[in-house]
Amino acid sequence: MSGSLRDAVVVGGGPAGLAFAIAAARRGLSVTVLEKREGPVDKACGEGILPAGVRALATLGVTGRLDPEHAAAIREIRWIERRDAARLRLPEPGGLGVRRTALSAALSARAREAGAELVQAEVHGHRREGDRMWALSSAGDVAGKVLVAADGLASAVRRREGLELPASGPARYGVRRHFAVPPWAEAVEVHFGPGAEAYVTPVGAQRVCVAFLFERQGPVEFEALLARFPALAHLLEGASAITAPRGAGPLARRARARIADRLVLLGDAAGYLDAVTGEGLSLAFGCAIELAALLPAALGEGATRAALAPYERAWRRRFVPYWAWTRIVLGLTRRPALRHRMLALAASRPAAFERAVRLAVG
Ligand SMILES: Cc1cc2nc3c(=O)[nH]c(=O)nc-3n(C[C@H](O)[C@H](O)[C@H](O)COP(=O)(O)OP(=O)(O)OC[C@H]3O[C@@H](n4cnc5c(N)ncnc54)[C@H](O)[C@@H]3O)c2cc1C
Repeated sequence: MSGSLRDAVVVGGGPAGLAFAIAAARRGLSVTVLEKREGPVDKACGEGILPAGVRALATLGVTGRLDPEHAAAIREIRWIERRDAARLRLPEPGGLGVRRTALSAALSARAREAGAELVQAEVHGHRREGDRMWALSSAGDVAGKVLVAADGLASAVRRREGLELPASGPARYGVRRHFAVPPWAEAVEVHFGPGAEAYVTPVGAQRVCVAFLFERQGPVEFEALLARFPALAHLLEGASAITAPRGAGPLARRARARIADRLVLLGDAAGYLDAVTGEGLSLAFGCAIELAALLPAALGEGATRAALAPYERAWRRRFVPYWAWTRIVLGLTRRPALRHRMLALAASRPAAFERAVRLAVG
């Protein structure tokens, strides 16, 4: 591992940390990413990337590195309840279903190519010292002018910095599993069921990712969740499960702020509400690219909290619309009668539904 003072040390080589590393290295910054797990890294995820995220991957030069065997084009989102399906056509360039391991491999390869240093190491602490921030890791200590905490939902950096706030509302969780079956649609299907939502995303010519989001009251088995969706269970009949279930949660996380002296929070570590709208990756990529763009000026001003304030503003501009839209959809998950009426209306008036969603999402 490089012993010199780095412009940025990143804790966490997930999509947010790696996207930042690519964008920052391309701007000539020296970046070291510390990721505790051996790559390519997997994670519980619905694995659908919305058009904004697809555009970000193109900007980062990652698209061509995605293994086509583990990816599939997505043309629309279908919200399905009983016999009603409201369809939302995705704007250009469309969405993408991508297996997380393939995404991790492509982002890592591109980050290395751009000049970032990727190290497998677990960070167990950090310390400010004069003009630098030390990340204390299993591979040794590394110093950066700024520490980028991209260590996910349960960010230990956020907690150690005293930036954590309690999240409100019922605790929601997610779990996913893959099935060997040719996707039946170029679409992400969102099935609404009793106390849970199911997401089906094509992630290759012969594979779908099935993810459930739900409020947990005690242990919940993947099979028990699937049983709540008889139509989906029927579609998966005979298809072998090719991965073990992998879960995550609670999903909602809050932070007091995204910045402190020589420190920023990025990706899920910066705050998260829910995966119900499938925006986490797009949000992480967008914030990572903006952070890399404004970091040279912030480093020039000493990477103080004040110098990093433009990042807090950029993050809010992106997070607030995500938060508002996610609140609306979460509200619908808890009100089946209203949801049913809305989906029936949306199914009968697709153009009006599309306009309304675009207005809400921005
Ligand atoms: C069930 C579910 C379904 C979802 N579906 C979608 C979807 O369809 N579309 C979408 O866009 N988003 C979806 N999301 C959200 C998306 O997965 C996240 O927003 C995204 O992974 C955030 O990326 P990240 O890099 O911030 O965090 P992560 O992907 O969690 O990466 C954090 C990384 O930090 C590493 N790390 C943690 N602690 C340390 C440490 N101490 N030292 C070193 N490394 C460390 C971890 O190993 C990990 O690799 C879903 C989430 C869930 C839970």
